[in-house]
Amino acid sequence: MRAITVIPGKQDSVALTDMPEPPEEDGPVLVRTRAIGICGTDLEIINGEYGTAPPGQERLIVGHESLGRVAEAAPDTGFKAGDLVVGIVRRRDPVPCPACAAGHWDMCINDRYTERGIKGRHGYASERYRIHPEHLVAVDPALGVLGVLLEPATVVAKAWDHIEKIGRRAAWAPEAVLITGAGPIGLLAALLAVQRGHQTYVLDLVTEGRKPEMVRRLGATYVHSGDLTEAAAEADIVIECTGFIQLLLDAKSRHPRYRIICLTGVSAVGTESVIDPGLLNRNMVLRNSVLFGSVNANREHYELAAKALAQADPRWLADLITRQVPLDQWPDAYARRPDDIKTVLGFPDVSP
Ligand code: BGC
Repeated sequence: MRAITVIPGKQDSVALTDMPEPPEEDGPVLVRTRAIGICGTDLEIINGEYGTAPPGQERLIVGHESLGRVAEAAPDTGFKAGDLVVGIVRRRDPVPCPACAAGHWDMCINDRYTERGIKGRHGYASERYRIHPEHLVAVDPALGVLGVLLEPATVVAKAWDHIEKIGRRAAWAPEAVLITGAGPIGLLAALLAVQRGHQTYVLDLVTEGRKPEMVRRLGATYVHSGDLTEAAAEADIVIECTGFIQLLLDAKSRHPRYRIICLTGVSAVGTESVIDPGLLNRNMVLRNSVLFGSVNANREHYELAAKALAQADPRWLADLITRQVPLDQWPDAYARRPDDIKTVLGFPDVSP
């Protein structure tokens, strides 16, 4: 079968290759891939900066944001042919650690977890894949191709879940939310903020185009990074979705009480900057603030994300997908264009 693969660690090794059919031991449900979403992690993997192949193999099938249609499923799996589905990315570590044992594999403690399309396990960018029902999530058929947005939505569903869990440490009534970055993660984080009734600000570098327009259509306020308004600067919750955290750690920035800052963006290492650790410490301690990182998602977050997408305006969600590239033109899908939000690689939809 055809699959997009890389030799991890080797730049420019990405290719559309012929790979063996998915092995039976991968699970009793056979899924035909319909669409694969592309994110920064995929670009890092094809750039040779991240990712590992399954043990003993040279190539890794990429693709962790997926949408597929069940082709075959045993009756006791809870799935049937034709169901629209999304595969979960992470698998618990083999020990398992206490977090993985409880189904919280997104919080794996020993780092021996695997991730489909990323770390030690083939991804979903192949014509077919097999999977255990435990790792498969049904998607509302009404969503159609928009179901490919489920995985990125799980990342923000987890971020929100943890922000609210931390918030419950004491009485708290957050009003304003600042989101940095108007890419797919930032916009989905803003969607969930608006759904919660928060006054929402989204900050980005661009001054015009689709991103500010998408923010406004949500009912949120777009803020240009050179022009952080007072209300946005004093937000109770900050969700960082760019990987550029200087602005948040800047000693001079306003720092309200009981602020919760969640970092979801991954930055490159090696950047030098000046931060006043003493002032940062005072800001955090004397104001009971929390700065935490959040990655990946467990099954519960897939369910929360599915609900959030079902409640969203489908026209708004559709406009998050700025390009759909057919498999035959796959290199185009991995090329970044300035006004891209989410690029999707389309697989032929062969009905079961
Ligand atoms: C994926 C997560 C994954 C993370 C780190 C992200 O792009 O959405 O599922 O845990 O990369 O590998």
